[in-house]
Amino acid sequence: MTTRPLAGGRASSAPLMGSDAEPTIFELSAPSRSAWSLRRTGVPEYPLEELVPPEHRREKPVQLPDVSERDLVAHFTRLSQRQYAVDLGAYPLGSCTMKYNPKLCDVIAAMPELANVHPAAPPACTQGWIRLLVELETALCEITGMAAATLQPAAGAAGELTGLLLMRAWHESQSSERHRVIIPDSAHGTNPASVTLAGYAVTTVSSDSNGCVDIRSLREAIDDDVAGVMLTNPNTLGLFEEGILEIAAVAHEAGALLYYDGANLNAILGVTRPGDMGFDIVHLNLHKTFATPHGGGGPGAGPVAVSERLSPFLPGPRPVRLETGGFGWAMPERSIGRMHSWHGNALVLARALAYIIANGADGLRKVAEAAVLNANWLRERLRGLYDIPYDRPVMHELVVSAATLRKRYGTKAADVAKRLLEEGFHAPTVSFPLIVDEALMIEPTETESPQTVEALAEALERIAQEISEEGGADSARAAPRTTLVGRVDEALAARRLIPTWDIGQARDLESSTSSG
Ligand SMILES: *Cc1c(COP(=O)(O)O)cnc(C)c1O
Repeated sequence: MTTRPLAGGRASSAPLMGSDAEPTIFELSAPSRSAWSLRRTGVPEYPLEELVPPEHRREKPVQLPDVSERDLVAHFTRLSQRQYAVDLGAYPLGSCTMKYNPKLCDVIAAMPELANVHPAAPPACTQGWIRLLVELETALCEITGMAAATLQPAAGAAGELTGLLLMRAWHESQSSERHRVIIPDSAHGTNPASVTLAGYAVTTVSSDSNGCVDIRSLREAIDDDVAGVMLTNPNTLGLFEEGILEIAAVAHEAGALLYYDGANLNAILGVTRPGDMGFDIVHLNLHKTFATPHGGGGPGAGPVAVSERLSPFLPGPRPVRLETGGFGWAMPERSIGRMHSWHGNALVLARALAYIIANGADGLRKVAEAAVLNANWLRERLRGLYDIPYDRPVMHELVVSAATLRKRYGTKAADVAKRLLEEGFHAPTVSFPLIVDEALMIEPTETESPQTVEALAEALERIAQEISEEGGADSARAAPRTTLVGRVDEALAARRLIPTWDIGQARDLESSTSSG
């Protein structure tokens, strides 16, 4: 098959240099090579023994590859060209907010005045850093309508766990023993996992025909054993929970706390605030909404903001403005303790503040408006091509279904997603949310232009059209043919994980386990 000119996505699937297999950095290693050289300065060399006491020295040298700077740069540049990334084109992976991240934020985070500070440096030397954290916390509280926040949690799921531990601390302070947390079936998958980790049992409530929480089921499920209700808003169908005020009233009447999963805050930024809707706890994903490149398991930040009554329980030490005028650290009165070593993933926090200041209140509101407009544009364009369950205006993302395509031609949502890779776009999230058959969860994000959103719509249109034609379904099932790696056996990849850099050893292990 020939490659098309790729509008909106990657410029082309240019042939890759060299053979398919890029050696690992360890395989490139050759003794005596190194990527650095230091000029002799005349400063006397101290013997290692004098510099590092014996008990702190390694017994064996650390195993690091020896490569020249030239080999090092070539290796990682080659690898980078095999990747699809937000810097290359649209990445509509639903719920993940893989938007383009402004380079300005990276420039700020790379400032030596920020990057080279040791977290143990005394406050007298880190006034600027602490002030940055205090200002970020203030900004996040204003954005969410909450009273106080912790910046420690390292990701969304860590924020959820923090929120649930705060919930537990609150109920204990009220001498109330509760065992369950209610989660709608349209919540993000991390929610039930976090609830379990925090030692609570999950009670699921179903969605109604509108895709929102079925308030009658909620009323039936709630009693004085429920510690909290966790809402993902917009929910995983991309829909705004319409009954929020009523849900808040029902939860509070039962003495439960209301939790807002705000990982996808780009949907409501500057338009409405969880605090104004009656929420007690909210977590944000700074690496999604506030512009930190993420996706490789890289650093993130999942701050948690709370209402006044929960603030004495926040993790600490917290960055604070001192009455004397400077900045310092303080432990909240009844703190649940630390959720991260030091002060969280500080450079992600610096990027977030840079993003907030650079956008200003107006800019942040435009982020939400563009995110919502793009998702709804796409929804209109895809009607008739794919099924649209719960077809009503969405927020930052939309969920379509390939159920009819499957029924007629036997192709799955995953086949559509793999074909989309050939069109030069990253695939959307597939098979999630679970309440939609053959789901394709598409988040165009606010950073894509109308032309790119249109190109994405055209690609999805072309794919649906092609599948309906003679041989089209087989073609979709064979995709992707233009990427370096074709279809992988995803189940096997998850079940037989071989974490090693040594390809030879991996192959040996592979053959021994597959024969056994
Ligand atoms: C991404 C996401 C999470 C989890 O965030 P991580 O940073 O990946 O732990 C939780 N809830 C929602 C709605 C999300 O989109």
